[in-house]
Amino acid sequence: MEIIEHDWSWTGGLTARPATDAIVLHHAAATNLSAEDVDRIHKSNGWSGIGYHFYVRRNGAVHRGRPEWAIGAHVKNHNSRTLGICAEGNYETETSMPAAQEAALRQLVAMLRARYNGAAVKRHSDYMATACPGRYYPFEAITAQQSAARDSAAVCGKNDEQEGEAMERYDTVEEMPAYYRAEAQRLIDRGALRGRGEAQLDVSEDMLRTLIICQRMIDEG
Ligand SMILES: [Zn+2]
Repeated sequence: MEIIEHDWSWTGGLTARPATDAIVLHHAAATNLSAEDVDRIHKSNGWSGIGYHFYVRRNGAVHRGRPEWAIGAHVKNHNSRTLGICAEGNYETETSMPAAQEAALRQLVAMLRARYNGAAVKRHSDYMATACPGRYYPFEAITAQQSAARDSAAVCGKNDEQEGEAMERYDTVEEMPAYYRAEAQRLIDRGALRGRGEAQLDVSEDMLRTLIICQRMIDEG
């Protein structure tokens, strides 16, 4: 999936996150707020900058906040072991989420679940007394495993359309980010991932992620 990168200027040092036990879902509690707005607000809290790792706007645009390796600032006392994703909007008062935003969140959560094997998906309110991410936030729709399967099917049937996007492609396991390699090798060993000719895989990041999710589902029975 496409992630919009920002050249954030951090007011303090960032620290590497020692573990990733959970992906925590938030809403902005504001109907119209850009990623830059969030960064400004979080700096005014005295934080180093935007505290979420990802910020998803109503139109489905996914913005990167904190680097994925860094400790965020979004769930007190649990930042060192969690990733934070925030949705623009106030889902305590808005009764439905735009389809594009919901689909982007579903894809992002599925991607991170595949990347951080075993990470749970939680609401901010699972950790403390807060309305966040709001009573109308479509938590089940975004986190259900069957939604991941549906998205995988959508991705599988959408190759031509996705060719146009600037997307990472890998020819060898070594070219892949470290978090994909073990599962990619399992796919190759199973014969589920094959190149055209001389060990050339020519697989996109999206397709690789989809295959990994499918593999997990098969393993889980
Ligand atoms: Zn929150």
